[in-house]
Amino acid sequence: MQKTSKVKKVILSAIALAALSASALLAPSVHVFAQQSAADITGTWQGTLQPPQGNGLRIVIKISKADGGGLKALLYSIDQGAESIPATVTLQGPTVKMTIPNIGGTYEGKLDSDAVNLTGTFTQGAPLPLNLKHVADATAWDISNPPPSNEPRKGAPPTAAIVFGVGSPNITAERSGTSIGIVAGGTVYLFDAGAGVERRMMEAAPKLAALQVQRFGPVFITHLDMDHILGLAVLSFYHQIDRTSNLRGGGGDFTIYGPGPAKGRLGIRNIMDHLEAAFMVKPGPDSWGKGIRMEELNIRPTAIHATEIAPGVIYKDANMTVTAFEVAHKTPIAYGFRVQTSDRVIVISGDTSPVDAVIEACNGCDLLFHEMFGVDFGPEGPKGDAQGHTSAVELGEIARRARPKHLVIYHDVNYRQPAALEAIRKAFSGEVTFARDLDIF
Ligand SMILES: [Zn+2]
Ligand SMILES: [Zn+2]
Repeated sequence: MQKTSKVKKVILSAIALAALSASALLAPSVHVFAQQSAADITGTWQGTLQPPQGNGLRIVIKISKADGGGLKALLYSIDQGAESIPATVTLQGPTVKMTIPNIGGTYEGKLDSDAVNLTGTFTQGAPLPLNLKHVADATAWDISNPPPSNEPRKGAPPTAAIVFGVGSPNITAERSGTSIGIVAGGTVYLFDAGAGVERRMMEAAPKLAALQVQRFGPVFITHLDMDHILGLAVLSFYHQIDRTSNLRGGGGDFTIYGPGPAKGRLGIRNIMDHLEAAFMVKPGPDSWGKGIRMEELNIRPTAIHATEIAPGVIYKDANMTVTAFEVAHKTPIAYGFRVQTSDRVIVISGDTSPVDAVIEACNGCDLLFHEMFGVDFGPEGPKGDAQGHTSAVELGEIARRARPKHLVIYHDVNYRQPAALEAIRKAFSGEVTFARDLDIF
């Protein structure tokens, strides 16, 4: 039972709320005590709040006697994580009123004669019906976070790739920074995290829900050019997936795999250290960053795990095996990834000039995501910005030898689609698609 109350918790509540869907509620708050009354309403109450859009949210409210008399409550929106949200409680005759200050919410309901059912209205902005049932421990919903599991679930949808950002350094309203999501076993894994990835993930929530996404997996970074990593700053706070498959904030582990330092450039660990110093805080009284003090705000700190990778198998769980292979780009280190799941092999080129490593990794793979830069470099080869990239003419030859079942072109700089497609078609007769943001393959 919590006995302390913390009052200075308002600013980050707004951030936490912004991380949630429009129907969301969540935030820590203050205990206030109220008058006790005759009917015994202590114990666990639960019911489902049905927002106008999206799935129902299961609400658990635990009412208990407060020290010194009166009643208090803790509210849990268990589909949005299990943080406890203190509430004030009053009981007058059959009427139960609760105030949940930090989410600006109230509840008012009427008890039935047995004090088992509470019929009422939850208001946070708009009023919504919320009927609660007084339940025994045996039938109470589990308010703990769903345990992270790498076990593939029975009846889970097959592996899917979803484009969160087609990328190229030039982002537009239609093209976010480079990021490809691969969904397997209810987990979404990211491959690169360019600018705007979090918005696309939120836009993709209905699609992710259809794919039964419940967890945010590691983020794999091909190389450390900023068009592939700017989104890491935002994701370091927003990296939870709730039960409606929405991306939200709220701390917890954040795992990244990427290149180490080379030739005077920072590695992924250095980069995450800097981001942590700027935005995140570590547990412990003396290790707070200069940014927002999450402890005061009762927000779990993020634990960042950044791992520097080398070619070979870099990650394996029950859903997938990820193998990194070296490609040839302008950065001192650049990788492509081969992702093997129970039903598919997906290869992601990253930024690269044409290399045999992509061909070997794919070798008849299901999906090949390959970058492209312009149509033809001509006999003199690539110049300027085109260096370290692959022309459409070269990509046709790569695809012919790699034999993907489906070639998906992304990160296509200076794209001129009809001319590029024509050039690719001269060598490759298989399926070719120019990716758009939010496409699913
Ligand atoms: Zn790039
Ligand atoms: Zn690059």
